[in-house]
Amino acid sequence: MKTEKVILEVKNLKKYFRVDSRRVLKAVDDVSFQIYEGETLGIVGESGCGKTTCGRTCIGVYDKTDGQVLYRGQDVHQMNKVQKKEFTKQVQMIFQDPYSSLDPRKKVHDIIAEGMRIHHLVDSGAQEVEEVQKLLLQVGLNAEHASRYVHEFSGGQRQRIGIARALAVNPEFLLCDEPISALDVSVQAQIVNLLVRLQKERGLTSMFIAHDLSMVKHISDRVGVMYLGNMVELAASRELYRNPLHPYTQALLSAIPIPNPEIEKNRKQIHLAGEIPSPMNPPKGCHFCNRCSRAKDRCRMEAPVLREVEPQHYVACHLQ
Ligand code: SF4
Repeated sequence: MKTEKVILEVKNLKKYFRVDSRRVLKAVDDVSFQIYEGETLGIVGESGCGKTTCGRTCIGVYDKTDGQVLYRGQDVHQMNKVQKKEFTKQVQMIFQDPYSSLDPRKKVHDIIAEGMRIHHLVDSGAQEVEEVQKLLLQVGLNAEHASRYVHEFSGGQRQRIGIARALAVNPEFLLCDEPISALDVSVQAQIVNLLVRLQKERGLTSMFIAHDLSMVKHISDRVGVMYLGNMVELAASRELYRNPLHPYTQALLSAIPIPNPEIEKNRKQIHLAGEIPSPMNPPKGCHFCNRCSRAKDRCRMEAPVLREVEPQHYVACHLQ
């Protein structure tokens, strides 16, 4: 259940990587947003737009270059040891690749129970067995799967194990980093539906990172669109899909097939000109200007700022 209470506040976040003595990759370049308790914020954009780096910097996996990330008012990058331990319990991550994120040498029981042991959440072996079995059932697996190794499972089942592992410490916030992009299309909807159900049942807050706008629509309360290290549009999910205002969002949405043959027949896809520039050498002014059919001289000189153009609808474009 979404509340008006901010759980994660990101202020002017920058994350740069030094490539060599002359070049710097600006993966996240001055991004600000908030996540409210109980909501799911989807972050979308093409590969290389900075969405994964943004998510990981928000939960302290990466140090920041500049700016600030506050989790329940505490600076994520300035926590002491005790605060950090509590934070790593409250904030869990579900990874893109279930194949490489689970230890192949461990049985499923031990993979799921590891966090419970670290955080002393169970008093006995019997309780641990019971908790692991409960989690397996919650994610749609069987209790007997606990004694198997991960190579015995399909991609979708492995992602279910990854979700059970994340939930084992009873977190309040999930960073879902492209959790479905490595899965077969037929399995993707099952995992999204599972995450939606678990989030509702447990009152979880989450950041759901994806490159597929159509999947994000089903899971997100609000959606942020990133392009080349910047947030270019942020709005409630329904509003963004009904009324996209940034030319980049409009192009992304125009590429999604519509499951109604009559409407699909007339769908006009907006083809973007050119390639995504390198984040080591983004265009001056608006980073999207070399691909935008509506670019003006001003766009090549001055970077647009993300601002509220309609209630709770934020856009970074000089045309708005
Ligand atoms: Fe296009 Fe200019 Fe808007 Fe950038 S600021 S999206 S180049 S119109």
